[in-house]
Amino acid sequence: MPLPPGKPNLFGLDRAALGEIVAGLGEPPYRAEQIYRWLYRRRARAVAEMTDLTKGIREALAAAYDLRWPEVVERGHSQDGTIKYLFRLDDGATVESVYIPEDRRRTICISTQAGCPLQCAFCLTGISGYKRNLKPWEILGQVAAVMHEARSERERGGAQSAATSEGGFRGGRERPSHSRVSAPPEIGKAWNVVVMGMGEPLLNYESTVIALRALMDPDGFAVAPRKLTLSTVGILPALEKLMQEPVRPNLAISLHAPTKELRRELMPIEDRYDIKDVIAAAQRYPIPRGGAVTYEYVLLGGVNDQPAHARALVRLLAGSNGKVNLIPLNPAPEIPFAPPTREAVDEFCRILSEARVTVSVRRPRGQDILAACGQLHLKRGEVPVPAPVAP
Ligand code: SAH
Repeated sequence: MPLPPGKPNLFGLDRAALGEIVAGLGEPPYRAEQIYRWLYRRRARAVAEMTDLTKGIREALAAAYDLRWPEVVERGHSQDGTIKYLFRLDDGATVESVYIPEDRRRTICISTQAGCPLQCAFCLTGISGYKRNLKPWEILGQVAAVMHEARSERERGGAQSAATSEGGFRGGRERPSHSRVSAPPEIGKAWNVVVMGMGEPLLNYESTVIALRALMDPDGFAVAPRKLTLSTVGILPALEKLMQEPVRPNLAISLHAPTKELRRELMPIEDRYDIKDVIAAAQRYPIPRGGAVTYEYVLLGGVNDQPAHARALVRLLAGSNGKVNLIPLNPAPEIPFAPPTREAVDEFCRILSEARVTVSVRRPRGQDILAACGQLHLKRGEVPVPAPVAP
């Protein structure tokens, strides 16, 4: 067990908070910028590494603050390269992140809450209950830790994975160890980050926004805004606030049903925020250049996957310019639904495609480690459907 929290954590603080700290030390504001870069761009593990600060500042910081990321307590390696990380937080709460390597990009899926209060009928996180909002350092620390692990792993040529795949997850696989190869530092560009793990990010707005800013800041993690996607059921007041941010991430909306009636059966939040209002807000959302609003639709066998549902979805999205991502249900014994048949997925997809709705089907990843069990959802592996032929 980690020790009970002692000193406050420097990691997770924003520019304003760092500014106050350096002012308190009687130092000029540029010192806060230096610390910011050490925390989020270079991702120092200790104040002692911040070599462009004076010894006096380093000592004062180290005396008053910790610098730490959440602790990785388990790793689950999938045959397909996906790695699921389990983090244990100071109060014993656990959250998960997933690392998904692809040929030309790598994706990290992160959590914003321990558990989730939304209770969507098909989602394991909701079924397992809600504990609390994560703090900024707990959100950002997932990204820092996973990026760090991916980099160490690459530098070790994958040897580490075999040694660390013990634990409660299924599917750990021995990999051949290679001789040590050097890898360039992995800064920003090649990474995608999706806020699609446990919890509803817009119910933890303050912490999530602090994390989003540091992720997109060129002096921070430097993830391009279009490569950072926030997934939400559409908490409207928070979505409106997010639109006011000077730099915004890409947006994914969890739709899952084509009508209000069916959506409220699957997602109790529909009673609060109407499906049509959510779509209207998403259409006004200023998407980053090169991005697009994605409507996520989990296909549940016999429940929302019939041709009539597909046609209703076409009507619902008429005039909107987002794309639809169909997600065959990842089943689990606790989930009272079945996955769709392959034919149902194909037919659903065909109907959207013929109506000239851009659609993709998400291929499950990491199933052998339960990474795609619905607690953690992966934004990769989308199989594009051929462009519809104009009538
Ligand atoms: N609360 C946010 C983010 C977390 S859920 C949201 O709802 O968007 C991220 C995605 O995982 C959502 O699209 C969600 O519906 C999907 N998901 C949840 N359980 C699933 C399951 N069992 N199978 C497939 N996708 C699932």
